[in-house]
Amino acid sequence: MKVEEVIKKIKELMKKPESIRNIGTVAHIDHGKTTLSDSLIAGAGFMSPELAGRQLYLDYLEEERKRGITIQTGAVSMVHDYKGKTYLINLLDTPGHIDFSGDVTRSLRSLDGVILVVCAVEGVMPQTETVIRQSMKEKVKPILFINKVDRLIKELKLEPKDIEKRFEKVIREVNRLIRKYAPAEFKEQWQVSVKEGSVAFGSALQKWAISYPLMKETGITFDQIINYLKEEKIKELEKKSPSHRVILDMVIRHLPNPIQAQQYRIPRIWRGELESEVGKDLKNCNSKGKMVMCIHKMITDPHAGPVALGRVFSGSIKKGQEVLIDNRVKEKAQQICIYLGPRRVPVEEVPAGNIVAIVGLKKAASGDTISLDPVEPFERIKHLFEPVVTKAIEAKHTKDLTRLIKALREKSKEDPTIHVEIDPETGEHLISGLGELHLEILENWLERDRGIEVETSPPIVVYRETVAKESLEVMGKSPNKHNQLFFKVEPLEEKCYQAMVEGEIEEGRVRKKHKKLIETLQEKGMPGEEARNTIFIKNHSVLINMTRGVQALREIIELVINGFKEVVEEGPLAREKVTKVKVKLLDAKLHVDAIHRGPAQIIPATRSAIKEAILHADAFILEPVQKLRIDCPNRFMGAVISEVQSRRGKILKIEQKETGTAVIVKLPVAESFGFTSALRSATEGRAIHSLIDSKFEPLPPKLQEKVIRRIRKRKGLKLEAEIS
Ligand code: GDP
Repeated sequence: MKVEEVIKKIKELMKKPESIRNIGTVAHIDHGKTTLSDSLIAGAGFMSPELAGRQLYLDYLEEERKRGITIQTGAVSMVHDYKGKTYLINLLDTPGHIDFSGDVTRSLRSLDGVILVVCAVEGVMPQTETVIRQSMKEKVKPILFINKVDRLIKELKLEPKDIEKRFEKVIREVNRLIRKYAPAEFKEQWQVSVKEGSVAFGSALQKWAISYPLMKETGITFDQIINYLKEEKIKELEKKSPSHRVILDMVIRHLPNPIQAQQYRIPRIWRGELESEVGKDLKNCNSKGKMVMCIHKMITDPHAGPVALGRVFSGSIKKGQEVLIDNRVKEKAQQICIYLGPRRVPVEEVPAGNIVAIVGLKKAASGDTISLDPVEPFERIKHLFEPVVTKAIEAKHTKDLTRLIKALREKSKEDPTIHVEIDPETGEHLISGLGELHLEILENWLERDRGIEVETSPPIVVYRETVAKESLEVMGKSPNKHNQLFFKVEPLEEKCYQAMVEGEIEEGRVRKKHKKLIETLQEKGMPGEEARNTIFIKNHSVLINMTRGVQALREIIELVINGFKEVVEEGPLAREKVTKVKVKLLDAKLHVDAIHRGPAQIIPATRSAIKEAILHADAFILEPVQKLRIDCPNRFMGAVISEVQSRRGKILKIEQKETGTAVIVKLPVAESFGFTSALRSATEGRAIHSLIDSKFEPLPPKLQEKVIRRIRKRKGLKLEAEIS
């Protein structure tokens, strides 16, 4: 089919949501996601089949090509015939490197199903678990493709029964993870199965695949496949059982269309009233209803400027419309497009159930809700990990300063796991990300894509402050001495904290009407009275108003919240964020005259009292600790272990397999700088590591004093903790 014909067909199909599948590929790095996407696109006729698998069509950014990893999420629409009907498949390619997991999470917002790619040689790996966990969070259904089967036969020379055993193991592990992370109603329903055809095997590189339904249909047997491979008749195998056909058939059969998916996904990703008009439009994917969409990604096109990629959940977005961005500002959607790989194709309108690219929304950011009238916004897209590494950055040439600021702002909009801040003390720009590599890629992008030469400081670890026990009651006096506020702090319940980390409990202002949130706090162990009186959540710390019958309290409560926010942003130990702390306002004695209880009185009184209470409660520092998996040939196991142990690391598990050793370790981020290169030289470059999890844990007692002093010195503070 010619591209023009495809475009015509796509435009027709866009109007029939039951014929649409919005899908992505997810995998551990190097398991073959990109190669698989290429082979699917080649099958759809947009790329010569010979090129697929080599050109890596979606990896079009220079940076990606250089590093051989996918960073930007590309999008592509394609058509596929199945049982006499034509379907529209919108495919988003998601990156594999864990440092960009933010990007995977965001793309999932626009998808209803994912093809989970697992390499047959390596099996289930850390990021296989992470991507399953992320998909389940957004209620995105998985199917499984076991890739690189050619290597089992050619390199490992396994017998059919061993191959079968390997497949069984991968399927068993994937199903265990689905059961672990899936929402209750889908734990069983979403299990993948060979018999039902939600599992396929094959080689993305050689562009063949096989599934049980196709084996039955074509009569091809597993032994025959092995023979084709042994005899190197790859082309014939590809003709008989082409991967794009097998996989896209599986997509259509097993992954939901937008109407089915939105029924259960909307209650998860949108907190508005489901029975309202717009609530029904969203659940039913009603293209005639009110237009509401969600942006999952901002990319910057060198010619067109910012391009917003997102999913239309109800109504239709039309070219030239003035749209409301997150109920904030209005901008004109100058162009509405769909993507065929790197190529943008302009269209007049895009109805509900589709993925769209909009040119002209300069003020939009990823996660924003787009509508015509004010509407309850979509849930913020939650990321599994927070930034834990910061660097100061400056332009080498002062003339580039404004451009640098603009570029950083643009990047943090594209990737919310990159934070950009100005250090109020020094006026320097600070960039924070998920790891050393994440920031390195940002620097390379600035220098190469933007031509801005930059200088950066060595990486700095981001710490947290918390408390060990309940404090005494502390009084805060306003500077004019006319107001007294009484506070107490204590550690927040572990389960509440976890629910905040997982994003199950939203941060921000809490009001009486937020019944579900209050219930969740209680379910997670907070006493009922405290849960009902919680008024603000920030940095996984809460502010609770325990006062009764205090005159004029309502007039000052916003000021108390401001004081609380300031303290949890900059704690008393080292001005790091304060986490896992419960702050209770117990009582207040306020001046009768409002003039004497303004911001300049109440905020400092709140701030000093909370800080003092935190210090009374045996405050201590938490440090970020990453759980990593290191894979290496068996002979390097000793070298890996000693490298980890010399960095305060702990060995959690060692697994030996015929392909090598996997060591699971815990490593403090503070000790991880330069780890990649040290590991490389200790193992002749044969060890690779990947991130499984990232958490804040107590810094060992003997390091507390030293680290606090070091941070305070760096920030130019007095060496003693301060409370004002
Ligand atoms: P991604 O990181 O998951 O996107 O992985 P890529 O698609 O970039 O593939 C990683 C490497 O595995 C590349 O060198 C591919 O050529 C190779 N590869 C992908 N699929 C297969 C396959 O089916 N068989 C073999 N032998 N190699 C493959």
